[in-house]
Amino acid sequence: MDLSRRTFFHFCGLTPLVGMASAEAQSDSVQTPRKIRYAKETTTICPYCGVGCGQIVHTRDGVIVNIEGDPDHPVNEGALCSKGASILQLNQNDRRLTKVRHRKPGSGDWEDLSWDSAMNRIVELTKKTRDETWVTAEDGKTLNRTNGIACLGGAALDTEECYLLSKAMRAMGLVWIEHQARI
Ligand code: SF4
Repeated sequence: MDLSRRTFFHFCGLTPLVGMASAEAQSDSVQTPRKIRYAKETTTICPYCGVGCGQIVHTRDGVIVNIEGDPDHPVNEGALCSKGASILQLNQNDRRLTKVRHRKPGSGDWEDLSWDSAMNRIVELTKKTRDETWVTAEDGKTLNRTNGIACLGGAALDTEECYLLSKAMRAMGLVWIEHQARI
């Protein structure tokens, strides 16, 4: 190849420009997944546990289209556990129950129950059980507790809900308080 000095410098100057242009085109067309293209990015903290992993929520027209780990967050550096990774389903889930379902003793069928009826029934049974199992003192020691009720928290409760739940249960005199994530 007959390469003049002028052609050589012209060639060296153009190559990086061509490379940059093609990399830009590639990053736009290949690296941005379709589901988050043109979506608004908002950072937040996973509500599930005290680890406090950072997440990015992508919304388009006010609808959440994706949630993923935030690679810039110092706690998780983009990683999420299985709960955090499935958090989109907190917002969008056709299988999520929105009504109270009740199966009467001895019945094999589930029925819808109104929220008012369910709350009244829970209050009624809690009060009855607490009254019947209340222990004021034992061996000369003041206890003021009930062993008749236990509370098991679910792993889908967020940190604030767990805090309020444990406060409420202790205020009622429960000592058997556990969490599904620890079991
Ligand atoms: S539940 Fe998982 S993703 Fe969420 S803060 Fe805890 S460890 Fe992180």
